[in-house]
Amino acid sequence: MSRIITVKFGGTSLADASQIKKVAGIVKSNPERKCLVASAPGKRSKDDIKVTDLLYSCYSEFAKGDEYSGTLAKIRERYASIIRELGITFDISAEIDAIDQEMRKYPPADFLASRGEYLNSKIIAEFLGWPFVDAAEVIFFNDNGFLDEAKTFLTMNERLRELPCAVIPGFYGSMPDGSIKTFSRGGSDITGSIVARSVKADIYENWTDVSGMLSADPRIVDSPRVIEYITYTELRELSYMGASVLHEDAVFPVRAAGIPINIRNTNSPGDNGTLIAATLPPDVKRGAVTGIAGRKGFSSIRVEKSQMNGETGFGARLLYIFSRNGIPFEHCPTGIDTISVVVNSLMFEAKRDEILRGIKNELAPDFITIEKGLAMIAVVGEGMVSVKGVAAKIFTALAGAGVNIRMIDQGSDEMNIIIGVDEADYEKSINALYGAMIEH
Ligand code: ASP
Repeated sequence: MSRIITVKFGGTSLADASQIKKVAGIVKSNPERKCLVASAPGKRSKDDIKVTDLLYSCYSEFAKGDEYSGTLAKIRERYASIIRELGITFDISAEIDAIDQEMRKYPPADFLASRGEYLNSKIIAEFLGWPFVDAAEVIFFNDNGFLDEAKTFLTMNERLRELPCAVIPGFYGSMPDGSIKTFSRGGSDITGSIVARSVKADIYENWTDVSGMLSADPRIVDSPRVIEYITYTELRELSYMGASVLHEDAVFPVRAAGIPINIRNTNSPGDNGTLIAATLPPDVKRGAVTGIAGRKGFSSIRVEKSQMNGETGFGARLLYIFSRNGIPFEHCPTGIDTISVVVNSLMFEAKRDEILRGIKNELAPDFITIEKGLAMIAVVGEGMVSVKGVAAKIFTALAGAGVNIRMIDQGSDEMNIIIGVDEADYEKSINALYGAMIEH
């Protein structure tokens, strides 16, 4: 049986005709690439505006009763130049007029926002000579706005099975009443994952403008190494701590079906990119640490009470004070008679008085100490479980950089070590950890 590759191309990969030609080259170079999910045209340069952003502006002008024809004309011109340079026949004016008519019926913003991927996909389908399949006919949300997985996977599978190949717009689907609903921003990644799952693809290639996920933040570390292989669990840890390469929700459909994701670079198609999978091929050799990520903006609330350890339910009652104020806790390191709750500073400040009052009244502690301005850094790698001396290396690196460690928390799965440092030491710490922990 022949393999099936689902490909999704992001906005910068489809920003103009020359990018679309590169995409066509990539797709046609491998006949296994049969289902293409497209984003709307993205930025062509740093100061350019994404078509989706133009569409949202157009909608807000319309909703305020302002003149929006200028913005609509800009959108028409973006597509007209793509069509001209691709040398295809496509009546963009008729399409834009139809959208304008529809808009006057006052459909929600989602309808207009979705037209970026709708038009781009129709144009790409025309250029490739592939059938176009409207996402509204194959991706379904239920009344609560959640994806109706069963109906979507079945309908999409039945529809795509009959076709040799297809172009499907990313970012949207339809509600039970037929109206258009979009995913959150960047949601074409989710569409790609849904398509891959529905057609039981062997791999989901997500093509973007970088050669994969980086092992540290490039704004802090000079040219960090690309991660060649990463598990879904490691990806989740690193994304949670601020590393981004893919929409967070995009992993779920493919992960459940064991389909790997390969992040690739449209501008450098020879690069292998990053392979994200549940388990990695047995011959893959990796270091103990896969990546480093972190975030600033945390506070630690330390509660001390002598004999706390003997008081049943102390921790539960403390955490409940945070949860009833709507504040999730990030970490909760404990000592014999102390317990700290690490939370997002902004959220904490908004509820500070209620929380401190709750702790004083309900737990009668000896002391409460608040430390603000903490940064949390996660050093992540499944390989850490079996390698000795990882923690020693981390602490030596930070000591060598003159960093005072404020908190340490090792996840119980032993695949991450979280270190709290002063925000002022954040960049220095990331660089020291990268230098010591990542092979480069
Ligand atoms: N075009 C949409 C956005 O800009 C969706 C996407 O590109 O994934 O958010």
